[in-house]
Amino acid sequence: MTSLTPRTRAAITVGRLAADASRRFGRGSGEMIGGKLALRVSAGALGELAAQRPCVCVSATNGKTTTTRLLARALGTLGPVVSNSGGANMAAGVLTALARPPFDAPAALEVDEIWLPKVAREVRPRAVVLLNISRDQLDRSNETRRIAALWRQLGAELPGATAVANCDDPLVAWAAEGWSRQLWVSAGQNWTADGMVCPSCAQLLHRNDFGWWCDCGLARPEPSVLVSGSDELVWFGRHVHAKLDLPGRVNLGNAAMAAAAAKLFGVEVDDALAAMTGLGDVEGRYKEVPLGPGRRGRMLLAKNPAGWVEMMELLGSSPPRPVVVDFNSQTADGRDPSWIWDVPFERLIGREVHVAGERRHDMSVRLAYAQVPHDVHPTAEQAAAGAGAALVDVVANYTAFRDLLVRSAARARGEPGPPTAAFGPAGVADAVATLDETAPADGYRRYDDRTGYASPDKYENHDGYDSRGGYRSEGGYRGDEGYPGRSGGADEAGSRP
Ligand SMILES: [Zn+2]
Repeated sequence: MTSLTPRTRAAITVGRLAADASRRFGRGSGEMIGGKLALRVSAGALGELAAQRPCVCVSATNGKTTTTRLLARALGTLGPVVSNSGGANMAAGVLTALARPPFDAPAALEVDEIWLPKVAREVRPRAVVLLNISRDQLDRSNETRRIAALWRQLGAELPGATAVANCDDPLVAWAAEGWSRQLWVSAGQNWTADGMVCPSCAQLLHRNDFGWWCDCGLARPEPSVLVSGSDELVWFGRHVHAKLDLPGRVNLGNAAMAAAAAKLFGVEVDDALAAMTGLGDVEGRYKEVPLGPGRRGRMLLAKNPAGWVEMMELLGSSPPRPVVVDFNSQTADGRDPSWIWDVPFERLIGREVHVAGERRHDMSVRLAYAQVPHDVHPTAEQAAAGAGAALVDVVANYTAFRDLLVRSAARARGEPGPPTAAFGPAGVADAVATLDETAPADGYRRYDDRTGYASPDKYENHDGYDSRGGYRSEGGYRGDEGYPGRSGGADEAGSRP
């Protein structure tokens, strides 16, 4: 820390004080607030702190938090590691991680895909792990090729840095092709709808079971590491057994990417995979939480079509539990929920499905078109209470997931908590900071997480939605019978067959 400028040293102190205060007042981890203040004091703090240590940045639309955690485990076999926690993945969160001692320890840094160029230019990472690019928050990162172009251009600005890149994603492969060094990993791609067209020449890509290619010559690079089974990798020509505690093939792909990055630091693959085993949940993902009397839920995060397809594969390889879909569309989720029409929800046919969350009725209509019978409840807890089994799989998007975790943690502590709270007191400061960083600059109506939509009547409709109290009548879709209520499936008196 001795080579830091006085300004950056002051910035670190200010950031720490702010983060401590945020934690003390129960307003979240303080990573975002502390980092933001520190950057305000010293704009060059990121670069100064990163210059002290080797860094790896991990970026993607999906899987970056889990992969960063797996990478930190692998690098941890060599000694101390610093890392940022999920969500705090913009400049402020990265700064907070870099400001942690020991100052020469390697840093495993999760970085938001749009923020990656800005952060990496300062941090000068030794390697960047590039997992996937797909449509995400439609009001923020829908231009997938633009993100790929930003990543490609970044490579030219980081000579000597290695792109540890997923060769199965054409956008990632094209982006990483622009770097001076690549380590190609076949981590898989379940969602191909954003990789139909060549990112180089815009012709339709060809695909078969072994890869993808374009008439212009762009083609899937030959990987050095590939996921070859449910518990096996091919590692530079050698078969390696890989049994993780994290479920699903998607996480084996994440582990392969993390192990490849760790190899650049001298970590042996067997040591890396051994260190990754034992990690059973990441920031609440895959964790079982209490959802009320006699009810528990396994928490699964799906915040865009690609994430949903991954979770459907995971559900398909798990015991057939009831599924609770918990769906919001706050700023941090992307305000436009229309992406649910891209998700192949037909794959849920045959499962017991319950729908909850602030945008449960949008989801209900989508599921009705997919002909998935389901019922609708204000909250995931109420949905679980009506489920036909004690353990359910909850698939939630970002704020629904976060809020349910907050409520279940309060429940585990024996606090009742408001069952329909859109947002608990913990994490407010961080979330507000997130909103500040993600909200488009102008022409944008602010949504208040604590009080709801700025105009309470915005989402009222003739069926009696009350933005504070929720829907007064809760129905559901009954497959061939349609919706109950005035518009069909039940008579005027409201009785159902
Ligand atoms: Zn092409």
